[in-house]
Amino acid sequence: SSLYKIDGWGAPYFSVNGSGNMAVRPYGTATLPHQEIDLLKIVKKASDPICSGGLGLQLPLIVRFPDVLKNRLESLQSAFDYAIQSQGYGSHYQGVYPVKCNQDRFVVEDIVKFGSPFRFGLEAGSKPELLLAMSCLCKGNSDAFLVCNGFKDAEYISLALIARKLALNTVIVLEQEEEIDLVIDLSKRLFVRPVVGMRAKLRTKHSGHFGSTSGEKGKFGLTTTQILRVVRKLEQADMLDCLQLLHFHIGSQIPSTALLADGVGEAAQIYCELVRLGANMRVIDIGGGLGIDYDGSKSSDSELSVAYGLEEYAAAVVDAVRCVCDRRSVKHPIICSESGRAIVSHHSVLIFEAVSASSYEVPSMSSLELQYLVDGLTDDARVDYQNLSAAAYMGEYKTCLVYADQLKQRCVEKFKDGCLGMEQLAAVDGLCALVAKAVGELDSVRTYHVNLSVFTSIPDFWGIDQLFPIVPIHRLDQRPTVRGVLSDLTCDSDGKVDKFIGGESSLPLHELEGNGNLSGGGGGRYYLGMFLGGAYEEALGGVHNLFGGPSVVRVMQSDGPHSFAVTRTVPGPSCGDVLRVMQHEPELMFETLKHRAEEFGQEDDDGGEGIANSLAMSFRNMPYLSSASSCCSETDYN
Ligand code: PLP
Repeated sequence: SSLYKIDGWGAPYFSVNGSGNMAVRPYGTATLPHQEIDLLKIVKKASDPICSGGLGLQLPLIVRFPDVLKNRLESLQSAFDYAIQSQGYGSHYQGVYPVKCNQDRFVVEDIVKFGSPFRFGLEAGSKPELLLAMSCLCKGNSDAFLVCNGFKDAEYISLALIARKLALNTVIVLEQEEEIDLVIDLSKRLFVRPVVGMRAKLRTKHSGHFGSTSGEKGKFGLTTTQILRVVRKLEQADMLDCLQLLHFHIGSQIPSTALLADGVGEAAQIYCELVRLGANMRVIDIGGGLGIDYDGSKSSDSELSVAYGLEEYAAAVVDAVRCVCDRRSVKHPIICSESGRAIVSHHSVLIFEAVSASSYEVPSMSSLELQYLVDGLTDDARVDYQNLSAAAYMGEYKTCLVYADQLKQRCVEKFKDGCLGMEQLAAVDGLCALVAKAVGELDSVRTYHVNLSVFTSIPDFWGIDQLFPIVPIHRLDQRPTVRGVLSDLTCDSDGKVDKFIGGESSLPLHELEGNGNLSGGGGGRYYLGMFLGGAYEEALGGVHNLFGGPSVVRVMQSDGPHSFAVTRTVPGPSCGDVLRVMQHEPELMFETLKHRAEEFGQEDDDGGEGIANSLAMSFRNMPYLSSASSCCSETDYN
C-alpha cells in the first residue's frame, strides 16, 4: 500500500485487507474489523450476471458509501462543536452543502437526512438547484439554511421568496449589486419579508488555480463601495433588518489555515462594520474551500493537498471570527460553511477495468532477416547501418542510438516515396527497438486500455490537470511488475491518464493475467479504482463520443456474510439514453433499422429477426465495452 500512498490519502476510510484487496472502513476510525467492506466483493456482486447471483451491471461502476458521507458530515460538525466549546465561542456552527458538487438525488437526500439533527442545510447556485434544494429540505430540519447563491434573475429571486413563504429558512445572497432592486421590488409584491445576505469580494487572495475567483478582481461578489450602496438602498426601503448574512468564498482547496484565517478575519471585519451600520447581522458564511489530501502529502505546497485537517480548519475559523468580534464588541455570529469537496469526495469510488495492455514490441531477429533488411536498403541507408554496426562494435551506445534514429528517418522517407516495402520498414522498426533495448533506452511504460471515458468520469483531469489517487483494487499483496499509463475508450488523444499523484508519469501495475478479458476467454480481470472523486466529477462529466455515466450502486454496511448490502442499483445510461440526450429518437431509429432488417434479412432463416434482436440489444446496452454474455438479457425495443 505504500507504493500507492494509500495510508496518506486513504485514511481513515480506505486500506488494504489481508486478501490484498482494497477495503472500505465506512465509519472511519470507528469501524470495527468485521465491518470493513472488501471492494472487490462489491464489484463481483454488482457485475456478475443475474443468473449467477450478481446484479448484472456493466462497468464502469460508481460505488457509493452513504455511511462515509454520514461520517464526513458528523466529523465536520464535531470539529466545529469542539472548537466552539473549547474557545468559549458564543454561538453555533450550522453548515450547508453546495449541491453543485454532486446533485445526485440520493446524495442530496442522504445529506439532508444525516444532517438534520444538527440543522445542516443546502446551498443552490441556479434555478434547478434551488428547486431540488427546496424539495429536499421539505423533509429536513426547518431551521436548516437554504442559501441561494449565483447570478439571479427575477424568476430565481421569486422562487427564493416562495421558498421563504413555504417556511424554508431561505437566504438570498446578493452576488451582484443589481439583484437588490429585484429583491426589494419582488418581496413587496409577494408580501414576503426576505432574509438577505451579501457576498463580499475580499482582498485576501488564494493564489492557486482554485483561487481565481478570489481577490479584488475576482468574478464574484460585491466591492466595499457596492456593499455600502446596498446598505443604503435597504435602509431607504426600510428593510435593513433583512440584511442578516455575510458570505465570501476565497476558492476551493484553501492550502493553509494561515490563508484561511486571513480571509475569515477580513470578512469578520466587514461583518462588524455591517453591524455598526445597523444591519441585523446573524450569520457569517465562510463559503467552501475546506481542502482534502489527494496525494497524502499533507503539504500546503501542492494544490493536491492541504496542510490541515478538519479540527485545525474549524479551530482557525472560530478563532478568527471570535478575535475580531471580541475586539469590536460584536455578538458572535452563527458560523456557516459551504464545504462540498470535503463532504462528498470520499464517499464514492469509481471502478473500471483494464481490458488489455500494449507494450512496445521488441522482435527477435535472425541473421537471415537482418541480411534481408540490409539487402533492401538504399546506399545512404546502408551507410547508416554500417555506422551503427561499427558504433556497436566499439561499445559507443549513445552513438548507436543516433545512427539508429537516422536510419529509421531515412527509411520512413523512402517508404513515403514508395521506394521501400512495408516488410522492410517493419524490419527497420524492429532493429531500432532492439538497439534501444540493448542500450537500455526502450520506453518500458505500457499502455493499459481501460473501459472508461476520462471526459465523462474524470473531467477535471482533462480540464484542469486535477489528479486523483488511482489504485488496483486487488492483487495488492503482489508486487506490481510493470509501469503503465491508462488510455480510455474515446477516439481522442486527450482521453488518457498519464499523470499520477506523487508526480509520477506512470502507475505501478500488475501484469494482466491473459489479454482478452472481453472475449470472455478467461484470464483474471484487472480492476482499478479512482478514489476521492465524489465531488464535481459526476456533475461536470459530459458525453464525449456518447459515453454516458457509469452504473451506480449504493452500499451499506450490514451483518450479513459479506458485511455489506447493496441498497440501490442504477444501471448506467444505455446507448439509447445517450442518443436521446443529443435529441435522437432511439425508438424511431430502431424502427427504421428493423424495417431495413426485414427487407435485407429475408435470406436469413428467421427473416431478419435475429438482426433486429441484436439491434435492440445494442440500443439497450451501455456504450462501454461489454464482456457480458446475454444469458440474462431481454429485449424491450421489440
Ligand atoms: N460555495 C461557493 C460559492 C463555491 O463557489 C464553491 C466552489 O467553488 C463552494 C461553496 C464549494 O467549495 P468546496 O468544494 O471547495 O468546499
